[in-house]
Amino acid sequence: MKLLIHSVTIVTMNENDDIVDGYVVVEDGKFKEVTAGYPNDSLIDQADETINGQGKWLMPGFVNTHGHLGSSLLRGAGDDMPLMDWLQNVMWPNEQRLTKEDVEKAAKLAVVEMIKSGTTTFLDMYHLHMEQMAELTIESNMRAVLCRGMIGLCSEEEQYGKINESVSLHKHFHGENAGKLHVALAPHAPYTCPPAFLEKVVDAAEKHNMWIHTHVAETKREVLEHKEKYNETQVSHLNKLGLFDVPCLIAHGVHLNDEEQHILSEKNVSVSHNPMSNLKLGSGIANIPELINKGINVAIGTDSTASNNNLSMVEELRFASLIHKGTYQDPTVTQSKDILKMATVNGAKALQLEDIGFIQEGSFADFILINPDRAHLTPWNKERVHSHLVYALKDDDISDVFVQGKQLMKDRELLFLDEQKIVADAQAFLF
Ligand SMILES: [Zn+2]
Repeated sequence: MKLLIHSVTIVTMNENDDIVDGYVVVEDGKFKEVTAGYPNDSLIDQADETINGQGKWLMPGFVNTHGHLGSSLLRGAGDDMPLMDWLQNVMWPNEQRLTKEDVEKAAKLAVVEMIKSGTTTFLDMYHLHMEQMAELTIESNMRAVLCRGMIGLCSEEEQYGKINESVSLHKHFHGENAGKLHVALAPHAPYTCPPAFLEKVVDAAEKHNMWIHTHVAETKREVLEHKEKYNETQVSHLNKLGLFDVPCLIAHGVHLNDEEQHILSEKNVSVSHNPMSNLKLGSGIANIPELINKGINVAIGTDSTASNNNLSMVEELRFASLIHKGTYQDPTVTQSKDILKMATVNGAKALQLEDIGFIQEGSFADFILINPDRAHLTPWNKERVHSHLVYALKDDDISDVFVQGKQLMKDRELLFLDEQKIVADAQAFLF
């Protein structure tokens, strides 16, 4: 199957941030050609499918590096509360009541929302029914990293049970769906995972060649309590336990001191920046310009709909740019190209994925088409595209979504999922 998209403006997100007026050829899930100009007649004849991209932009799909899809039915339940109060009194008790069917409804709703806002790859950390999640991810045809979230405040037998579930998920699903499905380990956070448990997780990671994702330094309270209990910072604590000796991605990193930032940089740990969730829960604002200055790979995540309250990477990257300008009272601390990288290339790196996040020959064909023929994206030329993508884009401008060469959305219609039914089923949950 050879797909040709011509007459399109290609936002490559490659090292030079090239924007090219040209065409792409997609075959076997990868870009075979990314070329300036118009294709010759023989190329047009050879194509099995041709899309005239006249007036459209083609760019890598967004990579959402942190979320909890199973929580989607709890959108709007328990807003405006502090994190610990919210987790202990709203989220965890409510989640205990979710049936397998509820989690499936929630995850489907999230997947619909993500595809419709241009996300092609996501990370999901959840503690219930992850096999179901894996099956659904395969059905959706999205690229994903799935992690069974693990809280270690339980007996040793239960701890091993959770680790074994993660390893079994890895055994059964890692590399499935033509390599689009990945599985990592996810101890929840330092305050829910005692040291002996984290050591077991690191052992499992080393033994099964898995990487680790966890929440770190989300709130000041949690950071202070950690210091009181262990007499050291969370990052130093996790480092001593060997967590960063395997590839690792931390979510949030809102309250990190200089020493912690150095450790993360030295150990090549990536950070998933979740600005809207951090703002909504009043957790604070991560010092992203400082992390970037220290050479840390920073990506973007939405966190769950229960703390955001949507999964739009379009909104998230806009916030990720604006809040740091405001905090620093300096508009130069974030540049639109760098913010776009956080939502694409850096996200891929954070999820240990190669060959996605940019458009070039040989990379996987994970991309979106955008229709800029709208008042809020006008006027535009190649010099203004990066700016418009960060500061003016809306979800509805995204017309088409492809993952590994397969089209998941065409003119805003989902091709593999029944959007109306999924939304109706999720709505029925409340009644
Ligand atoms: Zn989270």
